[in-house]
Amino acid sequence: MAGPLKPRVVIVGGGFGGLKAIRALRGANVDVTLIDRHNYHLFQPLLYQVATAELGTSEIAWPIRHLLRRQAGTRTLLGTVVGIDTQARQVELADNARIPYDYLILATGAQHAYFGHDEWEPFAPGLKTLEDATAIRRKLLLAFEAAEQERDSARRQALLTFAIVGAGPTGVELAGAVVELAHTSLAEDFRTIRPADVRVVLIEAGPRVLAAFAPDLSDYAQRALTKLGVEVRLDAAVTEVDAEGVVAGGERIAARTVLWAAGVQASPAARWLDAPADRAGRIRVEPDLSVPGYPEIFAIGDTATITMPNGKPVPGVADAAKQAGRHAAQVILARLAGRQDAMPFRYHHAGDLATIGRRAAVIDFGWIKLRGFVAWWAWGIAHIYFLIGVKNRLFVALSWLWIYLTGQRSARLITQGEADIRQQTPSVAPQPSEQPQPAKAPLGSEP
Ligand SMILES: Cc1cc2nc3c(=O)[nH]c(=O)nc-3n(C[C@H](O)[C@H](O)[C@H](O)COP(=O)(O)OP(=O)(O)OC[C@H]3O[C@@H](n4cnc5c(N)ncnc54)[C@H](O)[C@@H]3O)c2cc1C
Repeated sequence: MAGPLKPRVVIVGGGFGGLKAIRALRGANVDVTLIDRHNYHLFQPLLYQVATAELGTSEIAWPIRHLLRRQAGTRTLLGTVVGIDTQARQVELADNARIPYDYLILATGAQHAYFGHDEWEPFAPGLKTLEDATAIRRKLLLAFEAAEQERDSARRQALLTFAIVGAGPTGVELAGAVVELAHTSLAEDFRTIRPADVRVVLIEAGPRVLAAFAPDLSDYAQRALTKLGVEVRLDAAVTEVDAEGVVAGGERIAARTVLWAAGVQASPAARWLDAPADRAGRIRVEPDLSVPGYPEIFAIGDTATITMPNGKPVPGVADAAKQAGRHAAQVILARLAGRQDAMPFRYHHAGDLATIGRRAAVIDFGWIKLRGFVAWWAWGIAHIYFLIGVKNRLFVALSWLWIYLTGQRSARLITQGEADIRQQTPSVAPQPSEQPQPAKAPLGSEP
C-alpha cells in the first residue's frame, strides 16, 4: 500500500544555488524535483578558460542526473520553465507539462545584459553558458585564421584587435587569457602573425578595473594587465557596437572581435510571479528569501536580491548562491516541522578573487590581501578544490601545468559548423580552387 504523500519541493535551476538546496534536503522526508533547461551543472568561474581554449567543456560541467544519482527521493527533469501558476501551485514548462509543488525554490540565475542595446549582442557575445564559451572560442580562433590570409593591413589589424567590454573579474580574466593565447599558444603556429600585431583592449566605463576590490588591488591588476600587453581604457563608456568594432569614450576602435563582460540581467523569474524586482530584474526577496506574498516560494542566487546589514546587496557570486540555497532548504524544513519563526538569511562573504593571466592574481579576503604569483597559486588551488570529482581536478591541474610549462593549449578546436573565415572578413585571399584558372600551359612547360 502506498504511504502518505510527501511534501513536494520543486527546485528550478541546477546551478550553484539549486544544487546546494538539493544537498541540504538530503535525508529529509520530502520529494524533490529539480528542473533545468540544461542537463549539466556548470562551473561558470572557469568558463573563460573554455572560451580561450585552455580547458575542454567536460572539464567544467557535469551531468546533473549523475551528480544526484545517489540522493534518494530526488528526480531530475530536463525542461525550460516558462511560468508559474501560483493559484494551482504548478510550474509550467515550455512543452506544456505542469509540475505541482508545495514549496518552490527559484534558482534560475542571470544572463548578460546590454544596457538596453540588445542590438549589440550579435557583435559582442557574452559569456554565460557552455555554448557561449565555445562560440567565443570559435570566434577568436577564426579571427586568427582570417588574419593569416588577409592582405589588407587595416582589415588585418582589425582582425587582430580584440576588444573586451567590462573590467570586472570576467573581463579581466578574459583579457589576460586572450593576450596569452595570442602571444604564446598561437603566435608560433601562424606564419604571418607576430605577437606584437595583436591588440587586446579592455574597456571600462568606470574609473578602475575590478571595482569590487580594494583600490590598491585594482591598481595592481591594471599594472599586471598592462605588463601582459593589454591596453586598459578607463572612464570609457561604450556607445556603439557593430560589425566593425566599438565606440568607447568617443573613440572608435576597429575590432572584428568584441566580447561583452559588462552587465547582467536576472532570469525572468520576477515576471513569472509579478514580484517586486530591482533594475536588473532580481526579485526583492523577504529576509528569509521567500518571495513577497508567497511564503512557499523562495528565490535565491543571481535571480534574487537582498540587502546585507551594511546596506550593500549580497553579491552575485557562487558562494552567495550556495549559502542562499542552503538557507532556503532549511527554512522549508523548519516550516514543515511546524516552526514559523523568522529565519533571516545571513550572508558571510569569504572574499574576492580574480586572475590575470597565468602568473598573477589578486585576492581580497578583507582580513588579508594577496597579489602576484602567490595569489595565483591560491586562486588555482581554490578553483581546483571547488571543481567536482577527482578526475576533473586532476585533468584541470594537469592542463594548467602543461600550459604553464609549454604555453600550448590543447582545446584549440574550431567546432560548430564549417570554419568559414569569410564570415570574419570579406577580403581574404581566395581559396586555391576559387582562384582564376590560368590558361592551360602546354604539356611539358613549367607553370
Ligand atoms: C563568466 C562568469 C565567471 C564567473 N566567475 C565567478 C567567480 O570567479 N567566482 C564566483 O564566486 N562567481 C563567479 N561568477 C558568478 C557565479 O557563477 C554566479 O553568481 C552563480 O552561478 C549564481 O548561481 P545561481 O545558482 O544563482 O545561478 P546559475 O549557477 O547561473 O544557475 C542557474 C541555472 O538555472 C538554469 N535555468 C535558467 N533558466 C531556466 C529556465 N527558465 N528553466 C529551467 N532552468 C533554467 C540554468 O540552466 C542554470 O543551470 C561568474 C559568472 C560568470 C558568468
